Amino acid sequence: MAGILISPSKYVQGAGELKKLGEYAEKYGKKALVLITSSGFQRIGELVEGSFAGKGAAAEFGYFNGECSKTEINRLIQVAEEKGCDMVIGIGGGKILDTAKAVAYHKSMPVLVCPTIASTDAPCSALSVIYTDEGVFEEYLFLPANPNLVLMDTEVITKSPVRLTVSGMGDALATYFEARACKNSGAATCAGGLSTSAAMALAELCFQTLMEEGVKAKIALSAGACTPAVEKVIEANTLLSGIGFESGGLAGAHAIHNGLTVLEECHHMYHGEKVAFGTIVQLVLENIPSDELEDIITWCIELGLPVTLKELGVTEVTDEKIMAVATAACAETDTLHNMPFEVAPETVCAAIKAADAYGQFYLGN
Ligand SMILES: [Zn+2]
Repeated sequence: MAGILISPSKYVQGAGELKKLGEYAEKYGKKALVLITSSGFQRIGELVEGSFAGKGAAAEFGYFNGECSKTEINRLIQVAEEKGCDMVIGIGGGKILDTAKAVAYHKSMPVLVCPTIASTDAPCSALSVIYTDEGVFEEYLFLPANPNLVLMDTEVITKSPVRLTVSGMGDALATYFEARACKNSGAATCAGGLSTSAAMALAELCFQTLMEEGVKAKIALSAGACTPAVEKVIEANTLLSGIGFESGGLAGAHAIHNGLTVLEECHHMYHGEKVAFGTIVQLVLENIPSDELEDIITWCIELGLPVTLKELGVTEVTDEKIMAVATAACAETDTLHNMPFEVAPETVCAAIKAADAYGQFYLGN
């Protein structure tokens, strides 16, 4: 199998960069369909509109109805046709960005994504997650290319709720360990090949950045301050983790996350919060040295990421519930099988129980 690395064509990150969106956009087309929610428009619509003034490209705003579904994608394709748009721009959270990518793909147009939060590593990827109109997961839409441009305005992200950026750190925490597992097992990555030294290096840098800057960044964000630590964490959450997961591969942590979705009680938790706990479970399965495990669990605690099932919302922990999570995580099609050793629901169940107990131990419960 060949080594493959994929990435967005251009990544821009800085304070106030959204003010230059029009300038960036004019390089890709003449008229952009700009997807945004109405509340997003109220917050930053004027700024975005102003960025197109006097530029070689125009902006046609289309309000996003809240779900990345086939109905919504088709509706927006029609809007793009009616208005004569030749590029798509998504501004907002994950579902808007995924919708923008899907609309652009169906119309063979360039796509520019502008995340207003740093809560997952999805923006840079060549992937859209499609839901039904009711919000139930339907399918993954694998795209032939990553976004043409990913633009992170750190000033805008600094104003988003701190819990979202912390959750992004939870998602990014998994990246290095999942990439390492895939490398050791020789599993194919989401990019459709083996991982490369480049992807591994980015995944490792992602982890180092989180450990060195994560707590500092959280405290600064709580004070509404955009500092160098915040900038580094935004890059780790979005670019390093984005390329790291897609070209380095997914393994235990995300499979455990998927397993946790069978528990209704965890539904209110964010993706990255569940992935952080999934990472600890993977590390227990790998039996990493106790000082390393301690460092990671205490880092999670300092950030406020959940380290026990109770913190994930499970009020009454039972063997049945843990076994249900473990069984779902071991599903034939899931990435737990990318681990470099055999996994079975029984061993995963034990690892979840132990991870939960370690969490309680370090919390001092
Ligand atoms: Zn993730």
